[in-house]
Parts: sequence; structure tokens; C-alpha cells
Amino acid sequence: MEDITVFSHLDCIAKDNGENHPERKERLEVILDSIKGISQLNISFKDSPLADFKTINLVHPQSYIDDLLSMIPIYGLVGVEKEPYADTILCPQSKEAILRACGAGIESANELMSGLTKRLFCAVRPPGHHAETSRANGFCFINNAAVTARYLQSKFNINKIAIIDFDVHHGNGTQEIFYNNKSVFYGSIHQHPLFPGTGIETETGVGNIFNAPISSDTTREKFMEIFETKILKNVDLFEPEIILISAGFDAHKRDPLAGMKLESEDYYTLTQNIVEIAKRHSDGRIISFLEGGYDLQALSECIEAHLEALSN
Ligand SMILES: [Zn+2]
Repeated sequence: MEDITVFSHLDCIAKDNGENHPERKERLEVILDSIKGISQLNISFKDSPLADFKTINLVHPQSYIDDLLSMIPIYGLVGVEKEPYADTILCPQSKEAILRACGAGIESANELMSGLTKRLFCAVRPPGHHAETSRANGFCFINNAAVTARYLQSKFNINKIAIIDFDVHHGNGTQEIFYNNKSVFYGSIHQHPLFPGTGIETETGVGNIFNAPISSDTTREKFMEIFETKILKNVDLFEPEIILISAGFDAHKRDPLAGMKLESEDYYTLTQNIVEIAKRHSDGRIISFLEGGYDLQALSECIEAHLEALSN
């Protein structure tokens, strides 16, 4: 059984998106409670540091970060996107939350490369996979997984990294950031049509982007089959040195934002399949990032299934 390190921070709970917003603090509270209740695994909790701008700038230009930070209100809430996507919101606590969420990935990379742990989970909010190079989108401001990938490449000379995204929404941000970068594989299975509308199969980048758009009436069995044939087979061929997971749990049948039908146990299988590829090509090295997932009961169950498989 592999040890797991979980990076998180109370600052990530403090971020407030206002009443009735699906991306709420209770998500992370439930996830951390669930993880603390897992007694059969060796899990260490560590506080995320604040990400430094130099590392963030490997993906996002400082002008974009400065604009974003300048919009953070002293009180109340500010939407950073225009209608109909005005629900990407900054609050007075946003700076710390955003920098801790990204810092979790950076410190995970440091810990991974020190050889201390091979399996790491970033229990953070805000999520990251919708954040593009210079555009906040879909509750995301900084692309936590993308910054971590670039950091691994620049600091540790890792060449090939795969980012596997099973959030029910397409990670338009991650795709945009690596669209012309052969050294990063991005594979996403997602409901389509659905926000953000991108992620059709013909969006292939430089042969490094693999999209598996699926309709809401796709069965669990079919979901698993498509994930295997359209995503995992291609990761296997890519032979990544490290695997990052954009772990969203909103393809669960209970999720209010999408229409997929996965059960909690399916997240065990999805994760286990990724672990097998990591063992084959990546010396077992995986950093997983919390993305979406908006039903609290589903989150609690899915996170346990995800970490259990991650420890294999
Ligand atoms: Zn999502």
C-alpha cells in the first residue's frame, strides 16, 4: 500500500461564492471530514503553501494575475466574467485561497520529486481546469494542474506529463494552455453538450489532446469503456513520466450540475485504471487535483473511493 499525502489549507475553505453557489465551502469540509474518517490508509495531511508568482507565471502572465488580484473586493463579492457566466466570483478571501490551491500542486511536485510520496491529492478550492492562460472561467482562476505540470518540467526536467481529466465538464483551460505542447498529454472525458462547450473529438492540438465527449444518456458501462478506449489507451501509448489527475466528481448520478450516472464505486475503478498506467510508465507517480463535484454525499463517498484506489 502506498502512502498518500493530502495538501489542503483552511484558506481554501474560507473562499465564499455567495448563497446558493454550487462551488461552496461545504464541499471541501465534507471532503476533509471524509478523508479523516479513512483509517485503513496511511494518509498524511499537510498545509499548502502560498504559490509564488514566478511559478504561476510559467502558465499565467503577471499582467493577468495583477488584473485578477486588483479586482478582489474589500467586502462583498465580484463576478469576473460577463453574463451568462457571472458565477466565477472573487471575495475578500480569494487571494489566499487561489494561491493556496496552486501552492498545493507546487508543493506536491516538490514532495513527489523528493521521493517522499508517490501519491498526492490536492484537496483545494477554487478548482483550476477551466482557467485559461489569461482568462478566469467556470469558478477557476489559476490552472492548478497546468502550473504543476510546467513546474515539474522546468524545475525537475520532467519531459512527458499526462493530465487525465474525468470531471464531467471539459477542461477548456488545460486544453488551451497545452494545445501546442507535445510534451503534455491532455485527455478528457466529459458530458457534451454542456458547459463550457469545448472538447469535441476534432480538437486534437498537436496530437497531444484527446477528447471523449459523451451524451448525458451514456450508461456507466459505456462511460468506462469510452474512458478506456479513448483516453487510457492513448495515455499508455504516450508513456508519461508523471500523471496528473483533474479529479472532478460531478459525473456522479447525484450531481446537480450534470446528467451522468456514475456511482461512487466507479471512481475507484477509474482511479485504479490510472494507477495501473502510472505503475507501468510513471514509476507510480500521481498527483491528483480536486476539480468539480457538487453533491456533498457523493463527494464524501467518491473521495474515499478515489484515495483507496490511489493507495494501490
Ligand atoms: Zn465539473
